[in-house]
Amino acid sequence: MLQPVVMVVEDDAALRSVLLRGLEEEGFRCEAVATGAQVLARVAEVAPQALVVDVGLPDCDGRDVCQALRARGDETPVLFLTARDALVDRLSGFDAGGDDYLTKPFALDELVARLRALIRRAGSPVASRVGGLELDPATHALRCGDAQERLTPTEFRIIAALFARPGEAVRRRELVRAGWPHGAIVNDNTLDAYIARLRRKLRGLPGAPTLETVHGVGYAIR
Ligand code: CA
Repeated sequence: MLQPVVMVVEDDAALRSVLLRGLEEEGFRCEAVATGAQVLARVAEVAPQALVVDVGLPDCDGRDVCQALRARGDETPVLFLTARDALVDRLSGFDAGGDDYLTKPFALDELVARLRALIRRAGSPVASRVGGLELDPATHALRCGDAQERLTPTEFRIIAALFARPGEAVRRRELVRAGWPHGAIVNDNTLDAYIARLRRKLRGLPGAPTLETVHGVGYAIR
């Protein structure tokens, strides 16, 4: 089996070499850079299966790097390393299109487990058709006829949970579990905001099914 390639973006040289050594021992192939500018210059050539991005980089915020990748249509999973543990920071990491985060200091085993989960999730196809609407796990796009809408990784995971049980009500807490990493604190408004965004995208696809509210339970795609 091919070794998964991980791009490590960390300006602390000591931590960077610990990460490289540890990840390579676990069977990953690593490319390490120290700045946001280097990520954007090299990511296409490296084509990693995941990125590990320090939030506190010398030339920019790691979340800006993630947003810049998403703006280019690059949906490679991103795991943030952050020295901060404030709730607001965690959530803005996800708003930036990040897929997971670890707060420093962390155990290498934890990083390896999270990376493997991210890579598996990104590569795993899901039940992909409801009515005329198709969910493409490779490009994270929703397609209906000739129209298509791109999804962020979080939007993709939420709608994939609904696609897995077409027509059925899926509980809010199941959608939170699908959309966010274990232990993330996600309030009701955050899920509502994602549902609203998904509904807007579905409205852009003529003939697509809709996300119906099932009162007291959750949502269903019908
Ligand atoms: Ca740093």
